[in-house]
Amino acid sequence: MTAAATPHDLLHKHFGFREFLEGQEPVVSAILGGQDVVVIMPTGGGKSLCFQLPALILDGITVVVSPLIALMKDQVDGLVEKKIPATFINSSLDPSEVSERIRDIKTGKYRLLYVAPERFKSERFVRELAPLSIALFAIDEAHCISQWGHDFRPDYLRLKHVLKDLGHPPVAALTATATPEVRDDIIAQLSLGQAGRKPPQVFVSGFARHNLTLAVTRVQGQKDKLTRIGEMVREFKTGIIYCSTRKNVERVADDLSAMNVKTVAYHAGMTDEQRKRSQDKFMGGNCSVAVATNAFGMGIDRSDLRFVIHHDIPGSIEAYYQEAGRAGRDGEPSRCELLFNYADVRTQEFFIEGANPTREIIAGLHATLLRLCKNGPIEMPIAEIAEHMPGTSNDMVIGSTLFLLQRSGFIGRDYMQGSRTYTTSLVEPVKSLADLKIDFEKLDAKRKRDFGKLQRTIQYADNQGCRHQFILRYFGDTDATESCPICDNCLARAQTTARMPSEEEIVIIQKALSCVARVNGRFGRSRIAQTLVGSRSKEVLDAKLDELPTHGMLSDLGPDYVWSLLNALIQAGCIEVSSGEYPTLALTELGGEVMRRKKNIPLVMPSREMAKKAKSSRSKSSRATSSSQVDEEPYDEKLFEVLKKWRRDKATALGNVPAYVIYPDRTLKDLSAKKPKTDADLLEVRGIGEAKAAKFGAETLEIIRKF
Ligand code: ADP
Repeated sequence: MTAAATPHDLLHKHFGFREFLEGQEPVVSAILGGQDVVVIMPTGGGKSLCFQLPALILDGITVVVSPLIALMKDQVDGLVEKKIPATFINSSLDPSEVSERIRDIKTGKYRLLYVAPERFKSERFVRELAPLSIALFAIDEAHCISQWGHDFRPDYLRLKHVLKDLGHPPVAALTATATPEVRDDIIAQLSLGQAGRKPPQVFVSGFARHNLTLAVTRVQGQKDKLTRIGEMVREFKTGIIYCSTRKNVERVADDLSAMNVKTVAYHAGMTDEQRKRSQDKFMGGNCSVAVATNAFGMGIDRSDLRFVIHHDIPGSIEAYYQEAGRAGRDGEPSRCELLFNYADVRTQEFFIEGANPTREIIAGLHATLLRLCKNGPIEMPIAEIAEHMPGTSNDMVIGSTLFLLQRSGFIGRDYMQGSRTYTTSLVEPVKSLADLKIDFEKLDAKRKRDFGKLQRTIQYADNQGCRHQFILRYFGDTDATESCPICDNCLARAQTTARMPSEEEIVIIQKALSCVARVNGRFGRSRIAQTLVGSRSKEVLDAKLDELPTHGMLSDLGPDYVWSLLNALIQAGCIEVSSGEYPTLALTELGGEVMRRKKNIPLVMPSREMAKKAKSSRSKSSRATSSSQVDEEPYDEKLFEVLKKWRRDKATALGNVPAYVIYPDRTLKDLSAKKPKTDADLLEVRGIGEAKAAKFGAETLEIIRKF
């Protein structure tokens, strides 16, 4: 049906996109050429399209292995919306539904099949797939195959054998984890380039995120953290706060609720039902702040997050960047801030010690269990077993060691209905420590690696240089430039030397000061900066700041430059900041003289580099370009609100689907700018292709007509 269509045609027709994002096109071409590929793109880089689009062209079905069971249905629903026949098989289905889907797959009804990795445990399932023509075997979140990755899943190790059993279909392995060791491990574990397979093509792209301000704030303790979180939530409104423990999640969520901030909490101690409710609330836009332990948000696709705060230091740079990278997926400026306190390092060390037992602990627990279980099975919680191991203060390490001893066949652990805990028993014949064949060297190496990763994360926090460069170098991008326009360190450096402004800069200063003069004492720095760069955000329009002659006067220079300029003028005494919860700006006498060119004073001017980068980052990334164009192109805020409300209702009516499944924000903005009247106009709007137009077009046009 689509054989004659080019990838570009399909990109527009099914996905509603005009251009490929950076890095997508070469991957699509390589896959269409039958090549094995390893694709490393950051979260939000657009990995899914790399296999979804070829799936429309290739002969046969594309099998997608994805660990995100909770999101599988949403992903498949999203495809079906786009008129791409897709289905999924995971543990949420009952056996009769599975059989029915397999039957349909055999008749060629689907182009894509999403499967949870544990499904391949079933030999029967593999046998059923084997005769099918598998065009592509896509492995999403492929870092899960690597023991050096932060999310190792043993089920992924089986995939190498599955590929063999399926007759070596072409493979696309995709991940956001860019460390070279994980990349090499993916290739090795899948035997890519071996056993008759050609070496894979590896694609790394898109790690630089020009719209993210990376920052680290030193904090003394919990009180400091909360103050900073409060400030950020007030300023940036929508985002995620990551904590390393459940206790911290609950504490931060409670404190935010006490500040009347609508918050959802999300951690592993909640029931599936509670978690789903939190997730739906957050994804549906009813709640703007999520507080979560680090597992939350994997694959969460809410693109309008304006901040990600790390309440505690995470265990590795890749974990940090993956989580921080969930901010600003729509390309708009967003802030990622790590709240750093040396005491928190201990929590991470505790986790690493807990996950990586030493030889002494393994030997000690082996001997202890021989003693405790010699008269038969014991029903003892982990904490109690730990009490029999003097010198071990970390219950977590006992849990990991029990797991290891169970895996190596020394003990069995069963959970009986109604009992208070697991029953532990020795497996006959009882094995000595040597018989267990535990690879202590490998365990030691992993432990060292994990500690090494934590050290690199601490170095990131302590680092005085460019934070973007630090991260890109870590991922092996040696071209990373030494200075960015927007990390806290580069901003601070740019602000340390005062000099006489040039003629051109004097004009810029006059414009900034005259904007302050016009709103004298009524607005704070954010609003004034927004006005100068020509923002049409709700706050600006509500305050009618868009009607000022100074609105948009410095739009060329970008928000970071303008923000720093205002800061320089405050430091120099040209602008006065009021005290109180919402500080406002007013012109001082000196400021008035500078504005009227009666006086010229030395200032710490922001670097022009900052303004240049602001411009080039707008024109470089296709997504950033279009989103800022949408921003620059005025759009009707009132219509935007009407469309948002309609989308919320629609999402609820469709069974609480995430709002983006209907239209993402940038589509609503473009609709509010272009106000399409006909079906043809509709197809000119960003994010609307034929599939979306067929599904929601009539309703959308009707709303706009009525408006
Ligand atoms: P990843 O899996 O890499 O985290 P996704 O595949 O979920 O990223 O894509 C991230 C976002 O980018 C999604 O909202 C998707 O619709 C959007 N996207 C993907 N390809 C394009 C494109 N060519 N143009 C514009 N947006 C795109």
